[in-house]
Amino acid sequence: MNLDEPGAPEAQKTASAVGDWLSATAPAAPDAAAAPSGLARAATVQDMFDLAAPEVKPVVARLVPVDGKCQSIEILHGEDVTKIGRSKDLPESLRLGSMRLSSFHAELHLAPATNVVTLVDTSTNGVWLNLARVTKGSAIELSPGDSIRLLNPASKDDDGPRFEFLFQQVRPKASASSLVDELTCSICKCVYYRPVSVIPCLHTFCGHCISAWIKTGAGDCAECRSKMREVRPSHKIASVVADLIKAKPEHAKSATECAQLDSENTIPAVGLVLGKRERSDDGLGSDDEEDEEEDSDSDA
Ligand SMILES: [Zn+2]
Ligand SMILES: [Zn+2]
Repeated sequence: MNLDEPGAPEAQKTASAVGDWLSATAPAAPDAAAAPSGLARAATVQDMFDLAAPEVKPVVARLVPVDGKCQSIEILHGEDVTKIGRSKDLPESLRLGSMRLSSFHAELHLAPATNVVTLVDTSTNGVWLNLARVTKGSAIELSPGDSIRLLNPASKDDDGPRFEFLFQQVRPKASASSLVDELTCSICKCVYYRPVSVIPCLHTFCGHCISAWIKTGAGDCAECRSKMREVRPSHKIASVVADLIKAKPEHAKSATECAQLDSENTIPAVGLVLGKRERSDDGLGSDDEEDEEEDSDSDA
């Protein structure tokens, strides 16, 4: 069997790359001992696995009806805006059947990088948060246990649903600033731009930063100094960065800057191989990576 065959070994490498990247970045966080950073990291771990399996939309938060007379409203990862109301245009899971509600009664906005959910009143007759009427048009951040009412708390009860919900935060909130720390390139000290991962150590840098590093003739990782075998664009980390920039647009680069950095980036989309792979067939393969000769043991 040829151990360099693509397939299972590749898949294993990708799976461990995510975990290793996280453990590699964990000690670098300056406030690693603080609780908010721990929560932030948990949210990041989950986000990265979600991105690896994009067909699954996990629940980030939920509105649970206090009287159990209507369905729970689920706020899903990847849905920036969740609208609720009685409109037939809404999916059944978000439709609340009562003429006392507006067609589009309220919106729940999700900040994808931080899992923060905000409530916006889009109704005619109002929305109440912890018994106080929500100001129209303003977005209010929800906290676990908040009470959300879609009907006036002073109105007379009938037998129908009360449309009073408790807010449940299923996935922990992350602070955007601790995410910035975790997604900062150690070369340029900015949030990653076109991030690439070094194989096998899995340290991450901007594409243009590692390009400049390689141009100096360096063959070792700029962070841990272990030998670089390959440098590959990391789409998973790029997606997390894109989500972060939605929450913190001040970290976005200008079009001019992007064009300049792209022109300095010499890492191709398929990755850049810097050294040949280590062979380990039956323990007879050469483990000297500096060996220039082609190792043909596996062709037997
Ligand atoms: Zn950089
Ligand atoms: Zn490294």
